[in-house]
Amino acid sequence: MEKHIYFDHAATTPVDERVMQEMLPYFTEIFGNPNSQHYFGREAVKGVDKARDTIAKIINAKPNEVYFTAGGTEADNWALKGIARANKNKGNKIIISPIEHAAMLSTAKELVKEGFVVEYMQVDKDGLVDLNHLKTILTPGTILVGCMMANNEIGTIQPIKEIAKMAHEVGAFAFTDAVQTAGVLETDVKELGVDLMSMSSHKIYGPKGVGALYVRNGVKINSILTGGHQERMKRGGTTYVAGVVGFAKAFELAVEEREKNFEYVKGLRDRFIDRVMSEVPFVKLNGHREKRLPANADFSFEFIEGESILFSLDLAGIAVSSGSACSSGSLEPSHVLLAIGVPEALAHGSIRFTFGKHNTIEEIDYAVETIKTAVKRLREMSPLFKAQGEIKYV
Ligand SMILES: *Cc1c(COP(=O)(O)O)cnc(C)c1O
Repeated sequence: MEKHIYFDHAATTPVDERVMQEMLPYFTEIFGNPNSQHYFGREAVKGVDKARDTIAKIINAKPNEVYFTAGGTEADNWALKGIARANKNKGNKIIISPIEHAAMLSTAKELVKEGFVVEYMQVDKDGLVDLNHLKTILTPGTILVGCMMANNEIGTIQPIKEIAKMAHEVGAFAFTDAVQTAGVLETDVKELGVDLMSMSSHKIYGPKGVGALYVRNGVKINSILTGGHQERMKRGGTTYVAGVVGFAKAFELAVEEREKNFEYVKGLRDRFIDRVMSEVPFVKLNGHREKRLPANADFSFEFIEGESILFSLDLAGIAVSSGSACSSGSLEPSHVLLAIGVPEALAHGSIRFTFGKHNTIEEIDYAVETIKTAVKRLREMSPLFKAQGEIKYV
C-alpha cells in the first residue's frame, strides 16, 4: 500500500469518527431550520442549544456569551472589526502581535483604512511577546489588545493572562485567538481574563467551516455579518446545525482526552525533535522549546529551500507544511519567522511538522530517516552548502 503520513495537524485534522456519528442525523432526520416555529425547527434548536451549552461549560462562560461562526477566520474578523467599530468613542488604537494568523493581520490592515491605528507588540527570538514593550505602547485610547494564545507556525504559547491584565489596566478589551489551543490547553475565559476568544472546530478533529467567538456579556460589539435575527441578533445566517453539533462533540472529546493525547503527541514530538537535532547538522528549531504546543516542531534547515524538502517528503508520502498553510503558495518567507529574527535565507528553509493522535513512533522514525536522506541530497546540490566545506553526517 502506498504510504501516506500526515504531519500537518495545525493546518487541519480528520473528523473523529465519534464526531461524525453525532453530526449525521442533523443532515437528514433533524434537518429543520432552527429559526422555524414548528417541530422541525425546535428539534434543530435542541441540537444547537446543547452544542452552545457544551462549549460554554468547557470555556467557563455563559451560553449566551458563545456565538457560532463559520470558523476561526470569521471569529477573528468579528472580534477586531466588531470591537473597533463599536468602541470608537474610547479611542482609535488597536494592538496586536506581529506573528498573528493572517485572519488577524489582514483584518487589522483593513481597520487602518477606516482610520484606526494599529501598533504591534514586539516578540523575542522565541516568539514570546515582550511585556515591557507592550507596556510602553499601551496608552489610554487603546480599544483592544489582541494576541493569539499559541502560534500556529512555531507553536509558542503566549502569556495571555498577563497581556489581558495589562490591557484592562488602560481600559482596553483583551482578545485571544485560541484556535490552536482550545481543546489542547486549558481555555477558561475567566482564568485567562479575556473579553473575547476565537475558536475553530477543524483543528480539533471537528468539521471545517465552523467555529465560535466568545464575547463576554457587557462588551459592546457590532455585527459584521448582517442578516436575520440569528445568534441573538448579532450574526445573520442560518446556523450550520450539524457543524455546531460536531464542533461541540469534538471539543468535548478533546477535553475529555486532553491529558492522554497531550502526553502521547508530545512524546512523539520530543522524539522527533531530539532525533532531528542530533542527527541532522545545521538545523535550527524555531519557537520556544518549553512554552510550546505539544504537537509542534518547526525547523529551519540551512542551505536549502523549504519547498524542496516539502516536495521530497511528499514524494516519500509525508505531508508537512512550509511556512503556514495560508502563506504557502506564495514564496514569501514566513512573516512569523522574520518577526522573530530568523534571517531571510534561513526562513526560506523552514518546515513545520505538526503531529496528531493517530501518528505513530514508526512514522516519526521513518520521517527522520527520510529527512536525513533528503537534506543530505539537497545540500549536495546546493552551491551555498558546498562553499561551507565538508560536513560530517551522523
Ligand atoms: C487555523 C487558524 C485560524 C483560522 O481558522 P479557520 O477555522 O480555518 O478559519 C485562525 N487562527 C489560527 C491561530 C489558526 O491556526
